Order: sequence, then structure tokens, then C-alpha cells
Amino acid sequence: MADFLYPEGASRIVVSCSDRRLSAYLDSEFNDGKTVFMRTAGADVTNIADTLVKLVHTDTEGKNHAIRQVVVLTHTDMGDVTKGCGWAGRLAVEEDAKIHGKELDSHFIGDAQINQFIENGYTSREQIEMGNKNVQKKALGSRIGSSSVGYSTDTIDTSGIPTEDELEHVLVITRPSVARYSDMAKRLNKNHEDMTTIGKFNAYYSQVGTLEEALVDARLFTGALGIQDVRVLAQDQHDNEIMRSWAEQLHRQDFMKSVKLTLVTTRGNDSNKAKLKT
Ligand SMILES: [Zn+2]
Repeated sequence: MADFLYPEGASRIVVSCSDRRLSAYLDSEFNDGKTVFMRTAGADVTNIADTLVKLVHTDTEGKNHAIRQVVVLTHTDMGDVTKGCGWAGRLAVEEDAKIHGKELDSHFIGDAQINQFIENGYTSREQIEMGNKNVQKKALGSRIGSSSVGYSTDTIDTSGIPTEDELEHVLVITRPSVARYSDMAKRLNKNHEDMTTIGKFNAYYSQVGTLEEALVDARLFTGALGIQDVRVLAQDQHDNEIMRSWAEQLHRQDFMKSVKLTLVTTRGNDSNKAKLKT
């Protein structure tokens, strides 16, 4: 069973926030067929560090997999900060509660992460969104700085991305791959006419290598952002059984109790839409 899904010749990893507005932008600006995409809330390298390090360092024994560069893309909205990064917005709430000793019903972001933003003086949502790329660069340096792989970070301004979309928001959980988001949307929509259509701008992606990484995103997106529709998508046939086990374990989580969960494998017709009981 393939451990990861990178193709021969993949030379770059792009890590971005899960945000629904970024997929079309990543397809058009970064998908060159040789880029492996990873997505997690806030483009938070700490959450996906195990997989990222593995992708960078794995010796693929002659398979020509040679990552040369890692690019991490955070985002903000220069026109309206409340339309920026949902993860940053949540971090601002939790950071404020910590600084002022307020109680919150639930926490979605780790204490060490919150401390890092406090130490850097990033306390307002705006400061968090703009400072996030510096925090992520530091995290990259500590994880892959000693390797020969180059790394950089940048912030995307979503105010330039028109996102007229009235569709219900969906979380897609899938693994790192070179696939286009437009193609993933086609696969998610095929034989699922009874469900919310995956349009250009309504799907958040948790594109990670382990169930543990996916659980952090799933908890945050269902809890802090209120998403009620989660799809687990197998990237290829080698991925079907792994995604089935992820879906089964997600199904057992308390926070998923009232959330619709669907597994989408690569198998034909009927089993392609094998739904888990919710
Ligand atoms: Zn974001």
C-alpha cells in the first residue's frame, strides 16, 4: 500500500490554509503537475510537521521523487479583516481569552501555538494574519532547515479573489497529492446529486498525511466554523482502504455526532458512494 501519493518527478510542496477561497487560486497559480499540495487550517506547519518532514526526506529508491522547495501560503483579506483567515480569527479569540483570563467553552488551537503569537506581539486578528507567515517560517526552519530543501512563505490577499457562492460549506478530508481541486470537485460530485454540490468556493480542504492531523482540522472546522458536511476522499485506489479507516474513526468522534460524513472512494458506481451511517 502506497504510503504517500506523490508522483515521479514531484519537486515542490505547497502548504496552504484549508480556506475555501484558495483552491481555484492554487489550481491556476501553483499546479504545474509537479507540486504536491497539503492543506491545513491556518497553513499551520506544526499540525502537519510529521507528514511534511516525511515527504521532504523520504528516500524513494530511484523513483525520482526529489522535493527541492517547500512553499507555505497563509492568507489575509486586505479589504475586510473579518473575511480573512478563519483560523486566525479563532486564534485571536483564544489568545484574547488567555491574555485576559476569560473562560471559553472550547479550545481548538494548542497552547504552545497561542503562546508563540503572544510572544511575537501578534494579538489582533490583523496582526495574527499578517504575522502568521513569520511564525510558519520559523516552524519550517526548525523542521527542515537543516536539509538542502529551500523554503519560503507568503501571504495571499483574498480580497482580490471574487467568491460569490451561496452553497453550503463542506470540509473535504484527503491526502497530499498533485491533483487539481477542480478535478477533486468533479469526483466528489459524481453520483452524489443528492448532496451539496462542491462548487468553486465552498469546500475547505484538510489535505494531510495522518488521521491525527485530519482530526485537528475536522474538530476545528465542525466546531469553530460550524461545518456540518464532511467528505473523506480517496485520491486513488491505493488510498481507498486508508480513507475508509479514517472515515470509520472520524465517525466514532463525539464532535462528529451531528455531522454528515461521507466516504468517496475510487470504486465504481454503487460502492463509490458508500455512505457511513451517521
Ligand atoms: Zn485560513
